[in-house]
Amino acid sequence: MSLHVEVKNLVFSYGSETVLDGVSLSLAQGDFIGIIGPNGSGKSTLLKNMAAVLTPDSGEIIIDGKALAHWKRRNLARRMGVVGQGGGAGFNFTVEEMVAMGRYPYLDRFGSFKPADRQAVERAMHLTGCYHLRQREIFSLSGGERQRAILARALAQETPCLLLDEPTSFLDLGYQVELLELLQSLNQREKLTIIVVMHDLNLASRYCRKLFLLYRGQIYAGGSPEEVLTREHILEVYRTEVLIEPHPLDEKPQVIPVAAAPAAGSENSFKKRVHLIGGGGSATPLMKELFVKGLSLSAGVLSVGDSDWVTARRLGLRMVEESPFSPISPLRHRQNLELIGDAGAVMLAPLYIGPGNLPNVEAALFALEQGMPLFVIDNPPAASRDFAGGGGVTLYRRLHSRGALFQNELDVDAIIRLLLPASSPFPQS
Ligand code: ADP
Repeated sequence: MSLHVEVKNLVFSYGSETVLDGVSLSLAQGDFIGIIGPNGSGKSTLLKNMAAVLTPDSGEIIIDGKALAHWKRRNLARRMGVVGQGGGAGFNFTVEEMVAMGRYPYLDRFGSFKPADRQAVERAMHLTGCYHLRQREIFSLSGGERQRAILARALAQETPCLLLDEPTSFLDLGYQVELLELLQSLNQREKLTIIVVMHDLNLASRYCRKLFLLYRGQIYAGGSPEEVLTREHILEVYRTEVLIEPHPLDEKPQVIPVAAAPAAGSENSFKKRVHLIGGGGSATPLMKELFVKGLSLSAGVLSVGDSDWVTARRLGLRMVEESPFSPISPLRHRQNLELIGDAGAVMLAPLYIGPGNLPNVEAALFALEQGMPLFVIDNPPAASRDFAGGGGVTLYRRLHSRGALFQNELDVDAIIRLLLPASSPFPQS
């Protein structure tokens, strides 16, 4: 069984509200496609148009070379199975009766059930693990069991393609993963084409080979999970600041929410950047706290692999990196000074000081000499962190005498006040 679906420039409105505004996509046999997007972006409407439940205002859906409008419903039902949102039986059928409804497109006009129909029904119930529930009434099932029975009905249709609208929405995590693994195995073993509307970005990333991100009735991004699930896309479409981390098992991008993006008009994007000097994990708490506040950050010089380096990389900060276990080279030191040169403020974390990273403390002194505000977190005090034969303490004394702002703990508000014009009620964009 093969199948080719082409959606061309689809436009659809509910009354005067245009919900799909020029959507194009195509799917071929064996695809596993996820449709993602915020609430109200048109995902269900797109699926309903593809399932011929709704008729587009303009544009076309072509299935195996023939426009959807020209397909007889019965023939279409042999090509595409649909699992709608919360779709169940209106009446209290048994599981077996409901799954048997999937055979409707194959029955003759007398509605007689042949051995092939019975086999398809039993196979669908076995595949979805609901054979043992076959005599149970639909309304007596748990959400997960009912969802499996609904999927069984679509599988009994024996179509090369399945359209599913948020099939995991009412399921707990265990059932969600179970259902997606079932779809994955049907996709891999039976080459079933799957197009699924999904809410959960991380599950979509792991199970779908291709994603389409819908936004305001259009496809905002389409491609592999890596191409679609980027920090920039999520920020724009979901108005949420996120981190993107690879899944430890398969490296698929996983979306970790950090904070809601600031509302329009109160842009929290500070013109001035804060440069963090740290190492060995000393700057990590500062980095996280300032990042969540929406401050623009950079860091240096950090050794590759060091825990501050790992945090800076995860947060996507601009930084100057040095090779692991190497003293800061003149080149990296110079690059650090350049980053400091156009920052708005500098912060020196309570790093351990050795001969190899003394240039980092010198860089803080350089910031002061440039007239830049320098915050020094001196807790524990420098004397207990100085393994550079007193060189560190000497430099800290100079920082103090030249007006560095020594603090015991990070005072984020002090930094924000410093980066903003005094008269502004909001951060400036
Ligand atoms: P999604 O599945 O992405 O959440 P939908 O396709 O369900 O989005 O809805 C897209 C937009 O169309 C929403 O603004 C929704 O309110 C509207 N909408 C959905 N169904 C109807 C309907 N039957 N009548 C009028 N408006 C609708």
